[in-house]
Amino acid sequence: MNRLISTDLAASLRRASPVRRGIIQASLLVMALIVTSGSGRAQRGPNFEVKNYVIDAQLLTSEHLISATARIDLIPNIDLTALNFELHSNLRVDKVTDPSGQDVNFKRDGLNLSVSLLNPLPAGKLSTITVKYGGLLNSADGSPVEGIKVAYIGPDGTYLLYPGRWFPVSGYGVNRFSATMNITVPSDEVVIASGKEALPERQPGQVTYSYVFDKESFPGTVIAGHYTAQPATAAGADIALYLKPGHEGLAASYGDTAAKILGFYSDIFSPLPDAHLAIVEIADDTVGGYTAPGLVALASRAVTNPVNYRLLSHEISHLWWRCLVSPASSNDAFLDEGLAEYSKALYIQQAAGDAAFEDLMRDTAVGALTHEEVAPIAQASQLHEFTPEYESIVFDKGAMVFHMLRWVIGDDAFHQTLKTLAQQYAWKSVSTDQFQRIAEKASKQELTFFFAQWVNSTGVPQFKRNWAVYRLQKGYQVVGKMQQDLDIFRMPVEVRVICQGSRPVTERIEMVGTTADFTIDTRTKPLRVLVDPASRILKFDDQTKYQVEMARADQLREQQAYLDAIRQYQDVLQINSNSSLAHYRLGDIHFLLRNYNAAMEEFRRSLDGDLNPKWIEVWAHLKLGEIFDATGQRDRALNEYQRALQTNDNTQGALDEANRYVQKPYKPQSQSSSAQSAPSSPAS
Ligand SMILES: [Zn+2]
Repeated sequence: MNRLISTDLAASLRRASPVRRGIIQASLLVMALIVTSGSGRAQRGPNFEVKNYVIDAQLLTSEHLISATARIDLIPNIDLTALNFELHSNLRVDKVTDPSGQDVNFKRDGLNLSVSLLNPLPAGKLSTITVKYGGLLNSADGSPVEGIKVAYIGPDGTYLLYPGRWFPVSGYGVNRFSATMNITVPSDEVVIASGKEALPERQPGQVTYSYVFDKESFPGTVIAGHYTAQPATAAGADIALYLKPGHEGLAASYGDTAAKILGFYSDIFSPLPDAHLAIVEIADDTVGGYTAPGLVALASRAVTNPVNYRLLSHEISHLWWRCLVSPASSNDAFLDEGLAEYSKALYIQQAAGDAAFEDLMRDTAVGALTHEEVAPIAQASQLHEFTPEYESIVFDKGAMVFHMLRWVIGDDAFHQTLKTLAQQYAWKSVSTDQFQRIAEKASKQELTFFFAQWVNSTGVPQFKRNWAVYRLQKGYQVVGKMQQDLDIFRMPVEVRVICQGSRPVTERIEMVGTTADFTIDTRTKPLRVLVDPASRILKFDDQTKYQVEMARADQLREQQAYLDAIRQYQDVLQINSNSSLAHYRLGDIHFLLRNYNAAMEEFRRSLDGDLNPKWIEVWAHLKLGEIFDATGQRDRALNEYQRALQTNDNTQGALDEANRYVQKPYKPQSQSSSAQSAPSSPAS
């Protein structure tokens, strides 16, 4: 997901508990500097295309070992004597042979595998090279994504995700390929992969599973373990669930929900060529979800009661947006993750209603604005996947682009666009330009203005308006002007007049450039004029500005950049000095840094603010008590604990903690350990 090469970590992060998300994101930031899969290279593109893999792999799961041979069919664009692949850096290459079976030279450097050929591979002709390799995949060490396991082999369950580069990969996320996977495991294990499954071949002590995926896609994910398949009960669904012990009882609800999601997407995108879907639960120490053709892998924490249908709908949409149709380059990545995020929103609108959809889009807008200025969507290859910036721009702003396109061209043309995309580009890759042409054809309008503004550029509008009311013979007339600063801006903008004692009047005003005039007649007295009240356009206003500054501050805090976070929370307070949350967060950081005077002042201010969210009250009293304990004022501490207990609000165990400190005074931990751990208060 995200920052990685397009697995769904970001999606998993935003669904993980906020605290956990912070921890993962902090490690991602560090990792972003170390990621070796060069985005620069992805942009240049390799000078050959892989067409097919045949991988024979033996998994010694009790030893965490793989021993494999990959036969790689490829077509060079030019006569080639050098080939570059990415391969998990824990895997040792034993031997590479050219099409004639001759050994050739190769070099390993971290993730890179460079092969030098004596006899050039001819341009335009299919050639086959063979790579024999193996090694230990037992931890996050050497992972293509520092600190996150995306390839693991073990007796407790094996997951070899495509982002883990557990076989030689070229053109990650862009080069579509077919594959035959022959995977041998201990005889009591089961293997799940993409494509048609042959009858397992049993030998003493081991069994070989073979999967053939003969269309070009991304069938590079293999999962193995002690699974029992449970067919979904939903009528007409070809879904099998492979859940871990203890979760079997969730098979029916996951199968039903997956069937509903598949049915919904089949209706609006068009049916998948092959409707079979395996939903497989994998360990918790990896991304929250990852989707390969016909296969959705979910981390245990994502297999919940009730069903986590947000993550599930995001993942299932990848069967269309990635597996069926994929971005032509890493700069087109929003056509993968951005469209998956918006597909999820479409499902939520249908399943949970307009209010849930609008809430989600507001959160998405805040996410998009958090790092919007860093790069345009069309420069995604410059960003490190799995960073907050990538999530903000490719996932959230990407989703907002589809949301805005729908507003500009209308529901019918928008749905037609998605249908055409799924049908015309099935099993192919698509560029942003090609996507634009599909939308233009469906809507019968030229859309360069739209893509220039939202995909190729940074910058979002901030609307101002002024207006005057005139009395008409029958009713009133509002005459006004909207203004924003972006010169190339051109969008329809919704203007809503709130009236006394009657329904609001809403009109769609075409805005070209920095100003637009509007004239709206109303029956009763106009009270207020709102610009874009339904958030159809990605924009800054006072409310989003506050949320965005807060989100940035929270990210800094989660990354433990405390001094930067303090400055950022102070910026939040410039916008809203009444924000209890900003004061509380400042108090928390000062408390962590043992600046008890400053901490006390901020906690007190948080109690004088808007008390939003509600848990601030209990937690601020608790923290004040801890400060008094830490500074040897037991009576005053007990007084604060009592006030905490009086709130009767046990958010994140606040009352339990207060009771504990009533019994026994709070004592600060040793400085080194406390400075390394994030504050223990609620995360949002
Ligand atoms: Zn995704």
